[in-house]
Amino acid sequence: MRTILIILFTIFFAETPTIDNDKDRWKPYYTDANPDLTADKWFLPFDVSNRKEVKNIKIISIFGDHRDSFYKGHIHTAIDINPAKPKTKLVAVYPMANGVVCSIHLGENQRTVVVKHKLKDGKIMFTTYKHLKEVYVSNGQQVNPNTKLARLFTPEESKKYGGDYHHLHLEIRKKFDDYGCASWLTMNKTQLNDRYFNPQVFIKEHVK
Ligand SMILES: [Zn+2]
Repeated sequence: MRTILIILFTIFFAETPTIDNDKDRWKPYYTDANPDLTADKWFLPFDVSNRKEVKNIKIISIFGDHRDSFYKGHIHTAIDINPAKPKTKLVAVYPMANGVVCSIHLGENQRTVVVKHKLKDGKIMFTTYKHLKEVYVSNGQQVNPNTKLARLFTPEESKKYGGDYHHLHLEIRKKFDDYGCASWLTMNKTQLNDRYFNPQVFIKEHVK
């Protein structure tokens, strides 16, 4: 009887998902580790001829775009990118700077790795890498810009999931207090600016 009441209560009072009511679901995937090394030098997240040269990435989708995928009406919290000239069929993804892996969450076409960074002034920030086909790191692992984190989907593999997942969804975050769900539950500019840097601006200022 109690179970039935709980189920009925859940059906009648089910809230629409928000960052605040969804974040606890993602907390178990988070490891509270600290980066050993400072993120003092920043690079593009791919093995391209020059990881300091912005023209070596191709931007497919920009930050702040309206989205109906995954959760309807959310705002794009990332830039979607690929290497402009991929060296190999399988595109590897690397951390943009020194840090520690603090979360690996979601599965299949949405698999995501989050790296926590410590800046020279002691501030903490995060980079997140989404749509990964294979992940080569684990939670709590210290990484540097040459650590292979993962690889992307090939166009053929992406087709199996009925969408375009053969790109990197790259977020540059001010915080990770949502444990990842803000990636699909950010519904307005206030929430966007609260947690995210515009990756294009960040890259322009730091990857040089
Ligand atoms: Zn994206």
